[in-house]
Amino acid sequence: MLLEIAQMGQPVLRAVGGEVDVETIRTPEFQAFLDSMIETMHEGHGIGLAAPQVFKSSRIFVANIMPMPTEKSDGGVEVFINPKILGFSEEASGTWEGCLSIEGILVYVTRPLGIQVEYLDRHAEQKSMVIEGYAARVFQHEFDHLDGILTLDRAEDTRDIIIATELDAAQEDRRRRAQASDEEEDA
Ligand SMILES: [Zn+2]
Repeated sequence: MLLEIAQMGQPVLRAVGGEVDVETIRTPEFQAFLDSMIETMHEGHGIGLAAPQVFKSSRIFVANIMPMPTEKSDGGVEVFINPKILGFSEEASGTWEGCLSIEGILVYVTRPLGIQVEYLDRHAEQKSMVIEGYAARVFQHEFDHLDGILTLDRAEDTRDIIIATELDAAQEDRRRRAQASDEEEDA
């Protein structure tokens, strides 16, 4: 079943989600909800979707990151319940992130490249692993939703918040600004 996606301004996107009981995970109602989340993510062409985005204030998200989709494969969807981030790499990188709850907007967000995580999967089994690269970025984006944090909150400069259609111009502007600040440091 397709679920309605909350757009920015809905208070549920700013609430801290509650943990899910293990007994709840095994119920048919909960499993059906997970299937609906996955269907809604695919329909919106998203790579991840968190429960608060469909008006449920719970610590759950789904993401198409195990493995990551490529030109040749559709990737694999994993369900993350009560996830925790236990550690971050020192190395970080930035890129433009979209969000199904902030339609048409991109934000340049810098995040650690690698994270150590644990979570319960849809069978309530405890998993623990290190995630790197784009998958780590998606995990952190979705994880932020569970704490009521949006990409806009992660922008280091309001010039890093743009309308998606203007990406090329914004990219160029970012490159110029980065160069200018490098030159300042050299001076
Ligand atoms: Zn989002």
